[in-house]
Amino acid sequence: MATSKLSQFGLQHVARGIGRLTPEVIESGSGSHVTMVGGKRYLDFTMGIGVANLGHCHPKVTKAIQSQVGQLLHGQVNIAFQKPYLELVEQLIPIMPHKSLDTFFFWNSGSEAVEAAVKLARHATKKQNIIVMQGSYHGRTMGTMAMTRSKTVYGQGFGPLMPGVFSVPFPYCAQCSVAQASGGKYSSSNCCMDPIRQLEVLLKQETAPSDTAAIVIEPVLGEGGYVPAAPGYLERVREICDKNGILLVADEVQSGFGRTGKMFAIEHWGVRPDILVMAKGIANGMPLSGIVARKDLMDTQMPGSMGGTYGGNAVACAAGVAVAKAFKEERILENVNARGQELSDMLSKLRSDPKTADIIHDVRGLGLMQAIEFKSGAAGSIGSKVQAKCKELGMLILTTSIYDTLRFIPALNITKEDMAKGCQILKEAIEEVAA
Ligand code: PMP
Repeated sequence: MATSKLSQFGLQHVARGIGRLTPEVIESGSGSHVTMVGGKRYLDFTMGIGVANLGHCHPKVTKAIQSQVGQLLHGQVNIAFQKPYLELVEQLIPIMPHKSLDTFFFWNSGSEAVEAAVKLARHATKKQNIIVMQGSYHGRTMGTMAMTRSKTVYGQGFGPLMPGVFSVPFPYCAQCSVAQASGGKYSSSNCCMDPIRQLEVLLKQETAPSDTAAIVIEPVLGEGGYVPAAPGYLERVREICDKNGILLVADEVQSGFGRTGKMFAIEHWGVRPDILVMAKGIANGMPLSGIVARKDLMDTQMPGSMGGTYGGNAVACAAGVAVAKAFKEERILENVNARGQELSDMLSKLRSDPKTADIIHDVRGLGLMQAIEFKSGAAGSIGSKVQAKCKELGMLILTTSIYDTLRFIPALNITKEDMAKGCQILKEAIEEVAA
């Protein structure tokens, strides 16, 4: 089948509800590039939505997968331990953001892991309500759909959704007129959303602490616009959790595994989560996710209450082990910080450059989780033009949030040359749209 015929076939027979950036068909990927059927090659600043973080087909990950396939494809965790599962736990323990986080459970997808965290929080606290942030994304399954508050499309028409989920504003300074007036800096007194106050009010008006099991938060809002929590915010949330016997769940599905320049984003704030949710970058593309918590917390659940046919699959775990080793061997975090600085310098220059300043509302991010928000207000009106221009120039990027925002998620080991090329394409595209 030729490229266009193959695309037509996909459009005809694959669910429309998926939605996609391009109808093209990816044939192969290598490092920071993907090649489409028909030969068109793109510099990839999407990495399968922040999953293939060590580059497409990282040789060490591929080798680990190949070798595990010949050893054991599927053992099933409710039957027996399997070696790669335990090896992965061993690799992860030392890189957790707090030493208390030492007991693991692996699943397949981010949504399932978020649901596992909710199950654990409910069971351990014997309370049922969950608080999430406005703008958050936690998944599309029946449970996580109720927790996802980044766009109505994710829940529209699918209700009734899981009850007992409440939401409060996230400190999104670029969208807060008071914080903007004081230089975009958050404090509970200068933020018009006053998110800490609203959380306190929510706990008085809508969900009593004695009914509230957990606050689930992305330290950097992902699908909500790549917004890092304002300084001081997560620390206050931790205090509120401690005061009220509520568990703090960090959803690091997108921000974890080096994406923000630290192994886990929550390390930027030095806050201890009770449960950490991880997925995406954990296995560079193999379906794997997990949660980690203190042993006494995790072990409140009865044997048999956790598990599933494919969760913690042996091949996926073997890939995860290779990823964890590559992080150390290849000094990935150093590269994230160096390349992240180059990207953020370029975006900041565009923000102050008179040629482009008029269309740019905000640039922000941590490490290689960065975004640019345009002034148009309406989602996609400038961003989608920039996105289309980048594609024309040979680069894939994604939009995000209900505001007009583009996000950049290149490979964490992107070379200096590829980052320079990506920055050049972005600059050219933004300048052309601004002209
Ligand atoms: N949480 C966050 C923060 C995410 O970014 C995502 C995926 N974008 C999910 C949960 C859901 O993960 P999955 O798509 O693997 O179910």
